[in-house]
Amino acid sequence: MAETRPTALVLHGGASVVADKSYEAELTHLREVAEKGKSLLAEGMSALDVCVEVVKDLEEAGLYVAGKGSSPNQVGRYELDAALMEGHTRKAGSVASLVGYRHPIAVAQRMMITIPHVMLVGEGAAAFAKEQGMEEITDPESYYTPAAVPDGREIAVGTVGCVALDQAGHLAAATSTGGTINKRWGRVGDSPLIGAGTWADSRIAVSCTGQGEYFIRAVAAADVAARVAYGGASLDVAVIGALGDVKRLGGDGGMIAVARDGSVVARFTSQGMKRAIVHPSGKIEVGVA
Ligand code: ASP
Repeated sequence: MAETRPTALVLHGGASVVADKSYEAELTHLREVAEKGKSLLAEGMSALDVCVEVVKDLEEAGLYVAGKGSSPNQVGRYELDAALMEGHTRKAGSVASLVGYRHPIAVAQRMMITIPHVMLVGEGAAAFAKEQGMEEITDPESYYTPAAVPDGREIAVGTVGCVALDQAGHLAAATSTGGTINKRWGRVGDSPLIGAGTWADSRIAVSCTGQGEYFIRAVAAADVAARVAYGGASLDVAVIGALGDVKRLGGDGGMIAVARDGSVVARFTSQGMKRAIVHPSGKIEVGVA
């Protein structure tokens, strides 16, 4: 029998963490989803498909500011962003300000597979999703159950993401978000921007969470890749460096990352980041602070 290579998976439920709040429900859910992702990788599913399955579960949970748990923007509309990238092919798909669809990450994947474009926004993204028969939300008021409310800070965050290494040694990353809470209509964050909030190549895969404006200005996810590729940094050192750059600009948040050698990283400069790690050994770790 062919030897199976070690796989790895990391997921996050956002860098918005409030001191003294219990995150039991989120951690239990993250562990369950991590178990499922681990089994799918063991069955030989590709890193890209595992990332999509995991992110769909996170979108569906209503526990994070993504999918069902998203909050409306300032004009009361649920505008969602999502992106995914496959490392060895560097193929990517992304949607921004998408209104009316249950799984933005599935729309992004369908785009990546069926059309030559990388990114569609707003009405164009929705028209594509309709054409493809993607699952719609017909009654947003009853479907969405905002997982977070503005807490007096100007913006609060809670995106979801996943990075994976599969048995073939391929990497992928996926990120999905309702964006920052109380955002203006039309605002797009880092999550759907390839290189800012989401990135995968043949060496590493990264998904970010935090105040997207700073991650965009730092091209944060691609910065991790560059530190590894050109600077020879380890994955951990690269993530620390990239988050440090975001911090210098004034932003905080977190990153999950995986490398082809099975290194896994989950780091943050915010108060916490809801996360689950499936190590190549199979051990699963969850945490917030
Ligand atoms: N990065 C996301 C955004 O700015 C928010 C988050 O991570 O929760 O849209």
